[in-house]
Amino acid sequence: MNLNNIRIVLVNTSHPGNIGSAARAMKTMGLTRLYLVGPHEFPSHKADEMASGAVDILKNAVVTETLDEAIADCGLVIGTSARSRTIPWPMLTPRECGEKSAQESNVHQVAVIFGREQSGLTNEELHRCHFHIQIPSNPEYSSLNLAAAVQVIAYELRVASEMPSAFEWDYRFANEKEMEGFYLHLEKVLVALDFLKPEAPRQLMTRLRRLFNRARLDEMEMNILRGILGAVEKKMK
Ligand code: SAH
Repeated sequence: MNLNNIRIVLVNTSHPGNIGSAARAMKTMGLTRLYLVGPHEFPSHKADEMASGAVDILKNAVVTETLDEAIADCGLVIGTSARSRTIPWPMLTPRECGEKSAQESNVHQVAVIFGREQSGLTNEELHRCHFHIQIPSNPEYSSLNLAAAVQVIAYELRVASEMPSAFEWDYRFANEKEMEGFYLHLEKVLVALDFLKPEAPRQLMTRLRRLFNRARLDEMEMNILRGILGAVEKKMK
């Protein structure tokens, strides 16, 4: 396991204190890489205060405007959510998240994404993920404080980092940027084929995203699929 290949991504955090507490939660477990997507207030004294001895994590935090920029180079993307969503997605327990990240952090970048204090992650953001995690909690009061949720996941990553792990594959996995390029291409071809009707898209692209995210395409498989799409386009002309 390489904890340096694992990043914690906080999306549109409102309270800078939560950013500081998340940094502290990370550092206690040996995680160092914090990404902040459009934080409301950062840098901030409140964040520094709550980070205590973990201000170095805040100093080195990467601030981005979009989630895309924060996860483009990642081969494994995991989203956290207190609620289950309309279209079920492959789920991991926090423990399984630790194990999977432990294995895959040896071969590519891993991101675990956390949502807004008020509204969590949007469906579009969650559809970018290979897996979702719901931290087991009281069904009548299931939403943990953001930094507390980071602590639970960071702890599981720590536990897993102390176990031996092996993961081998012949080709590197496609990263998020390549997956997004593939989905755009696929959508374009499906529209050209009149299979996908832009005026009535239903959940087609969401279901296809779930299918291909579940398959975890590697670089070679991605090239084959892009090649097939290209051949379809050529024939249509
Ligand atoms: N009201 C929001 C909850 C936001 S809590 C909602 O209904 O989605 C802020 C963030 O903490 C969430 O976006 C998620 O990243 C994390 N979180 C809180 N409780 C969680 C739980 N039980 N399981 C997984 N993530 C959780």
